[in-house]
Amino acid sequence: MKSVSIKDIFKNKILINSIVKVQGWIKNKRNSKSNLLFIDVYDGSCVNTLQIIVNKNLLVNKNHEIIKSTPGCSVYVEGRLVSSLNTKQKFEIHMYKINVIGWVKKPDLYPMSSKRHSMEHLRNFAHLRPRTNIIGCISRIRSSVFYSIHDFFHKNNYHWVASPIITSLNTEGAGDMFSVKYSKKKENKKLTYKNFFGKEVFLTVSGQLSIEAYACALSKVYTFGPIFRAENSNTTRHLSEFWMLEVELAFSNLNNIIEVIQKMLKYIINFILQNNKNDLRFFEKTFHDNIINKLKNFLETNIKRINYKDAIKILKENKIIEKDSIYLDIELNLDHEKFLVDKYFKQPIIIQNYPKSFKPFYMRINSDKKTVAAFDILFPKIGEIIGGSQREERILYLDKRIQELKLNINDYTWYRELRFYGTVPHSGFGLGLERLIMYITGIKNIKDVIPFPRTPKNANF
Ligand code: ATP
Ligand code: MN
Repeated sequence: MKSVSIKDIFKNKILINSIVKVQGWIKNKRNSKSNLLFIDVYDGSCVNTLQIIVNKNLLVNKNHEIIKSTPGCSVYVEGRLVSSLNTKQKFEIHMYKINVIGWVKKPDLYPMSSKRHSMEHLRNFAHLRPRTNIIGCISRIRSSVFYSIHDFFHKNNYHWVASPIITSLNTEGAGDMFSVKYSKKKENKKLTYKNFFGKEVFLTVSGQLSIEAYACALSKVYTFGPIFRAENSNTTRHLSEFWMLEVELAFSNLNNIIEVIQKMLKYIINFILQNNKNDLRFFEKTFHDNIINKLKNFLETNIKRINYKDAIKILKENKIIEKDSIYLDIELNLDHEKFLVDKYFKQPIIIQNYPKSFKPFYMRINSDKKTVAAFDILFPKIGEIIGGSQREERILYLDKRIQELKLNINDYTWYRELRFYGTVPHSGFGLGLERLIMYITGIKNIKDVIPFPRTPKNANF
């Protein structure tokens, strides 16, 4: 007999009247007056539950285990698939055989009972919360987003490159890093954490410098992996461990890379609209939010672009910052960004050409010598989702910046050599995967869009 997934049933992939086997967990159970038992089963393949109809008269043993089963029990069901007369469901299973595989011990204490729980409460049960509809929907969308990103780049002839997680470089030049120490199992006098690699090493804050090396040979590359930042900020948009997509494109400038981003974001969002419609509908119902329309609108428009200088001008005009301040001296903070994106434009925006003093050493100096060819992409209610730039490909300018910022030039020998041998204009960006998922799902706290969040004082589970 065929073991089927509930998703395939709802996609009309299984013939009506065929005998099927379904395996999953009980979400709800109801008795009817007519001696029928209705059991809603989910298997995680989609947000839908499948209704199993048990005719108690047909149970040989009146104390059949299914009578005592409770939400959360895992079950094995065999039966006939029929189209449902009930308007709420399209399908149901008329049970032939049903077995409880795993019981819920002490059902009264089961933390994932079918009543609605707050997201805060669920965070205390990171191991059980995937059983809820909401975390189930997020997980399926997260998986689809990953897939669609690989799909987009594969179709556009990019190559996936693995950048190292252990590194001695701090790409951003600023952010605090986690150091990697060698932890001794046995007494080993010769090895200490310092000399294991011969130098101090950290968990990576970005794979960008590494993939630049590959872009300068394979032309179109990306890396996609976990990123670690020891930011001691407990916000709704920062994690200590998160996932970042980083893309690097040779023979390109700022406009070219922004065009790639527009196409990529539309591809991802269209993919989610096509493949995760029911998950999105669940969010709409739960948050009373028009998420599907928001995403459809996104497909219709290009993200608005403004220069940093003009962003500052808008803030001055609206009395958010002092009228006579000089734009090169003002670093946009979160409140400024919020004003621009949530109140003024009310749509995603790209801010470009930042003063060089607010950006890392590797960004390309513009001809004004004051700004760099850099951009941030801000989204309503979330803030920055993507940061990128054209890279400085001219060795003289690069060295000048390294000096200005008092970085140790010896740390960047290999990176500088990329400019020494066959240099090429190139650009790239980094996208925070969790923040993009927050935008797509409407989830407000980043801790809820990654399975086991790591934040200051929290590395449980
Ligand atoms: P922010 O100012 O919001 O801290 P950032 O300027 O440090 O962001 P980048 O270094 O440009 O960000 O990193 C690229 C992208 O990675 C960001 O646009 C964001 O989407 C994501 N990101 C950065 N830091 C975090 C974090 N701590 N947790 C989750 N995502 C992050
Ligand atoms: Mn940051």
